[in-house]
Amino acid sequence: ATPTAIMVGAGLGARRGVLFKNATALETVARIDTVVMDKTGTLTKGEPEVTDVVADGIPDADLLALTAAVERESEHPLAAAIVRYAEERGVPSLDVADFRNVPGHGADARVAGRRVLVGNRKLMVAEGVEVGSLVARRDELAEAGRTAVLVAVDGRAVGVIALADAPRETSAAAVAELHSLAVEVVMLSGDNEATARRIAGRLGIDTVIAEVLPGDKAAKIAELQRAGKRVAMVGDGVNDAPALAQADLGVAIGAGTDVAIETADVVLMRSDPLDVPIALRIGKGTLRKMR
Ligand code: ADP
Ligand code: MG
Repeated sequence: ATPTAIMVGAGLGARRGVLFKNATALETVARIDTVVMDKTGTLTKGEPEVTDVVADGIPDADLLALTAAVERESEHPLAAAIVRYAEERGVPSLDVADFRNVPGHGADARVAGRRVLVGNRKLMVAEGVEVGSLVARRDELAEAGRTAVLVAVDGRAVGVIALADAPRETSAAAVAELHSLAVEVVMLSGDNEATARRIAGRLGIDTVIAEVLPGDKAAKIAELQRAGKRVAMVGDGVNDAPALAQADLGVAIGAGTDVAIETADVVLMRSDPLDVPIALRIGKGTLRKMR
C-alpha cells in the first residue's frame, strides 16, 4: 500500500477507536482469512455470574462457604463471582491454608482442616475424585452453555456451581459480518467443550477449540498457520498475549489487560467485537461500502 493509503486507513480506524500500531498491521489485516476469538472477555462480557448451586450430601450454605474460602485466594474471574455470590448470601468466612492455584483447571486449599478442591472435571480426575452422580448435573449445565465448576471435600465430590457469562451484544453480528467477508471464525477457550460449543452455536460460530490450557493457546494458532491459514487472534487476557504474538495479526480488546494491549498489532478501544470486521474492511479498503 502507498504511504497515503496507509495514513487514510489509520485515520479511518482511529475515528472508530480501531488503533493500528504500525503500517505492517494495516497491510497484514487485508490478507487475514481466519479470525480466532477468545471466548471469555472477548465474545462474552467476562463477567460471570452464579446461576445454579447443586449440593450433594451437604447443605448449600456449607458448600458455598467452603468453596468461597478457596476462591477468595484466587484471582480467576470465576472465583470472584463465586465469592461475591456467597457473600451476598451471608455465608461465614472460614480459615484457609496451603492455597494452590492450578492454571486452566482450578484451585485447592485446606479450609477449616478439610481439603477443598474447586475446578473442572480434569482437575477432579487428576486428583482421583470420583464425581459420581453429580456428573449428570454438570453435563446438563454445560449443555446449557454454563461453566460448571465441581467441588470436592476430602476427596469426595459434594457439589456443582454453575456460572453464566453473557455474550457481548454485538458478538453474533460480528461473526455474521466476518462470514460475509469470507473469513472463517474460530472460538478458542479454556472452558469445557460442551459449554464452549453451546455458546459458539448461539453466535453462529462453527469451529470450536476448547479445553485449551493457558500455555497452549499460541500452539493452537501455530497449528492453524501450518494448515495454511492467515490468522488474526482476538483476545483480552494475560493468557492471550503469547497467542496474539504468534498470530499473523494480534488484536486486543481495549478493556483487556496491559500485556495483551502491548503485544497486539491492533487495539479495539471500544471493546466491540464488531470492530474486528471493521478493521478487516479498512485493511481491504472497502470501508466505503459500509457507510
Ligand atoms: P478461560 O479460557 O475460559 O478464561 P481458564 O483457562 O482460566 O478459562 O480456565 C479453564 C477452566 O478451568 C474454567 O472454565 C474452570 O472450569 C476451571 N477453573 C480455572 N480456575 C478456576 C477457579 N479458580 N475456580 C474454579 N474453576 C476454575
Ligand atoms: Mg479471555
